[in-house]
Amino acid sequence: MYNRLMAIVYLSLGSNIGDRVGYIQQATSLLSAHQDINIVTTSSFYETEPWGMESENWFVNAVIQITTTLSPESLLDECQRIETQLGRKRNGQGYSDRTIDIDIIFYDKLIFNNKRLTIPHKYFHKRVFMLVPMLEIADDFVHPFFGKTVSSLYEAIEEPEMVYLYGTRI
Ligand code: AMP
Repeated sequence: MYNRLMAIVYLSLGSNIGDRVGYIQQATSLLSAHQDINIVTTSSFYETEPWGMESENWFVNAVIQITTTLSPESLLDECQRIETQLGRKRNGQGYSDRTIDIDIIFYDKLIFNNKRLTIPHKYFHKRVFMLVPMLEIADDFVHPFFGKTVSSLYEAIEEPEMVYLYGTRI
């Protein structure tokens, strides 16, 4: 039987309402329950200030490395299914508080853009809440578009927002 190639993928998980760590843990275990997804590595949890939105609720963020035979779009479908299952509401008006947000940061070395999906994630290189957990698990990963490592992208940020280590690994 034909086997699709296994891709190495980095996902960003974040939550800023309710049991934030619990939502990230539940999302991780729902991902790992999928027959075409394996969790390889997980970062620690980090507590971070809301970015690009007005909210008093700080986020907990983590990054996980998975391997998958799903295509980028099927993986996005699965991430969005899990977001809905965990009570994520979309108000369609930009950023808002969320039980869980799952974003695809990198999918192998793929550079891809369509109406639904931009890979690598459009803001990865600007978002300390994605860069810092990524530094912990893959600091030498080379961003396929910028040709720079995660470490050098982080160092290039002039005034990084505060990111606090919040807890141990998922
Ligand atoms: P969010 O509010 O972060 O869940 O993102 C909203 C939309 O971003 C989703 O409906 C996706 O179609 C789109 N999107 C574009 N690129 C990505 C990506 N790399 N990972 C996840 N969502 C993405």
